[in-house]
Amino acid sequence: MSSIETQMRDASAKIFRTTEAKETCHNASQGSAASGGCAFDGAKIVLQPITDVAHLVHAPLACEGNSWDNRGAASSGPVLWRTSFTTDLTELDIVTGDSERKLLKAIREIKEGYAPAAIFVYGTCVTELIGDDIDAVCRQAAQKFAIPVVPVKSPGFGGSKNLGNRRAGEALLEHVIGTVEADDPGPYDINILGEFNLSGEFWLMKPLLDRLGIRVRACIPGDARYAQVASAHRSRAAMMVCSTALINLARKMEERWNIPFFEGSFYGISSTSEALRRIAQLLVRKGAGSALLHHVEALLAEEEERAWKKLEAYRHRLEGKRVQLNTGGVKSWSIVHALIEIGMEIVGTSIRKSTTRDKERIKQMLKDENHLHQSMAASELYAMLREHKPDIMLSGGRTQFVALEAKIPWLDVNQERQHAYAGYAGMVELARQIDLAIHNPVWAQLREPAPWKQFVTTARSAEPRINMRSADEATAGFY
Ligand code: SF4
Repeated sequence: MSSIETQMRDASAKIFRTTEAKETCHNASQGSAASGGCAFDGAKIVLQPITDVAHLVHAPLACEGNSWDNRGAASSGPVLWRTSFTTDLTELDIVTGDSERKLLKAIREIKEGYAPAAIFVYGTCVTELIGDDIDAVCRQAAQKFAIPVVPVKSPGFGGSKNLGNRRAGEALLEHVIGTVEADDPGPYDINILGEFNLSGEFWLMKPLLDRLGIRVRACIPGDARYAQVASAHRSRAAMMVCSTALINLARKMEERWNIPFFEGSFYGISSTSEALRRIAQLLVRKGAGSALLHHVEALLAEEEERAWKKLEAYRHRLEGKRVQLNTGGVKSWSIVHALIEIGMEIVGTSIRKSTTRDKERIKQMLKDENHLHQSMAASELYAMLREHKPDIMLSGGRTQFVALEAKIPWLDVNQERQHAYAGYAGMVELARQIDLAIHNPVWAQLREPAPWKQFVTTARSAEPRINMRSADEATAGFY
């Protein structure tokens, strides 16, 4: 990157950064697609799971190619959100000043071809640097085509993925939430914020809320519809699931529409029960009948008993097994809690992307700061795994091969995970998957010396005069 580009990036970063970083992550690194996601990436991650919306990236092709569908959020209906739209700007569009016109044309084509509930337009590095007035184009398009067109201004040079998460929340506050009036608001309406419905996780929780008569007016963003998000201001209470992503949205909704919220987790038996209890308490405080508190306790007792019975099968197989966690944000404490519940021992957990409050929670659970570590390079993580020899590592796909190289079982608990781990049923599934991973017979085989290594050793003892290379030399490069 040239020095001019660097200066522009730094100057722009100052403009786009805010000082209100109370509960969000500290030490946010400068964004780039290569270093784990830029601000645009962060905004897209948060908004893309709104399923009936067309997400239009106003940029050269690479931005969209970089960010398309990189999470396993699930939809119960529309599939439009997974279609990739970009204005695909070229040098010629930029030199001739044609990019705004191209954007307007793209919006018209999407409206005519796909009839989405709304179109979200993402501003990126190039379009912000050349000074495209995305707000004005979106306003004009909304009037001309009679459809909500929402500008999301989160160019990658503004900062990290976490900053983009916040920008996404601000776009929802400014342009979406409060624009549709619900015709049936009720005292049992809630919002769930920061829940992405990864692998359909939220579908494990929703039936429980249904049984309590609690209606999820908007789950933002997982499996959401535009109209639900737009009418979210009519809910009576909210639960904040991932504190890193949308905490600002929760705070502002409390200020603006008096919607109280709490931060909770659906990972683990007691965390799930506590979350349901807190939802009921907030609703009763806001006018729901107090019988809800009794209903929730009855439901929790029934569900907990059922889950513990199922977990018994895994408890004796997992009790005392040692886990290394290398995830971040809210999962750094919520999964720790879940694992401690089934008797596992935590060797270490990453506090990368965790808020101050997240860190406090982990410290309370582990009672030893030595278990906490910041982001570490692959070589350091490898050395740590070799030294502590945990029975399993739980992390995201990026560190999968570090665990496999160290011959340690590994399970994906991040956004690309294949299984849903939320709620009571999710906890049983998590225990099942850990059990399958740890006790997979492949690990015993993998830790044996390789057959060719044994052969070389045997051959050497049978024919001592032959000047063979050592087994290690012969197999150099295999490890
Ligand atoms: S927004 Fe900027 S940093 Fe992000 S992918 Fe596009 S060009 Fe790269």
